[in-house]
Amino acid sequence: MLKFIKRRAPEVPAGNALPPALDLSGAQRVLVIAPHPDDETLGCGGTLAQLAPFAEISVLLVTNGDGAGDLPEGASDTRKAEMAEALKLLGVNRPITCFDEPDGAFTDTPAYRKRLAALLEQVKPNWVFMPWLLDSHSDHSRIARASCDVLARAKGVDKVLFYEIWTPVPATHVVDITATALVKRQALLCHRTVLPHGNYVDASFGLAQYRAIYVPSREARFAEVFTVRSAADCAKAA
Ligand SMILES: [Zn+2]
Repeated sequence: MLKFIKRRAPEVPAGNALPPALDLSGAQRVLVIAPHPDDETLGCGGTLAQLAPFAEISVLLVTNGDGAGDLPEGASDTRKAEMAEALKLLGVNRPITCFDEPDGAFTDTPAYRKRLAALLEQVKPNWVFMPWLLDSHSDHSRIARASCDVLARAKGVDKVLFYEIWTPVPATHVVDITATALVKRQALLCHRTVLPHGNYVDASFGLAQYRAIYVPSREARFAEVFTVRSAADCAKAA
């Protein structure tokens, strides 16, 4: 009888299960959903620079980026230009789509969902990058949740890749960005309007250095990580 009452082995793997390398070769058409100018570079800039030579990358800037009144007048236009400059350095040359939602006060509306659904129809991405569902910035988490609901009904999206900004993600995949770290740093430095408001460069690269511990190669110095889910499951990822 013993075999019938034997407990199943626990499913937690033995040892330290580190996230595997993300296979970039599957990306064909990529959409990056960025709540604010700089999220695209902070969250996945090193990875975008590696995808740019072979994938079509489109970027959606969801808010107007005006800092909700905390930045000088005209900051929205300045920051959009800085974002375009940063993306150009990363190898992304397509025009940015701007939804101009209020910065710091994004709310999920049928209008947002409709516009995103129309953009997905137009871009037909098979990969979508977006901020983490539990990011501590309300624009980030609200945009992620609203977007996931739209993506769950979209056709053709194989992967949703959540990137980290204010809140680290539970990493499922890692990208060694040692080769593109310099261009990521240069792209980040394009965001001149916000840089005096926080030590974003050191914070971002400190995190990237820590994430490099997931890469088996001792040569790796910087890495980006993502929580990767299917479009159908992305709303349930957190
Ligand atoms: Zn942001």
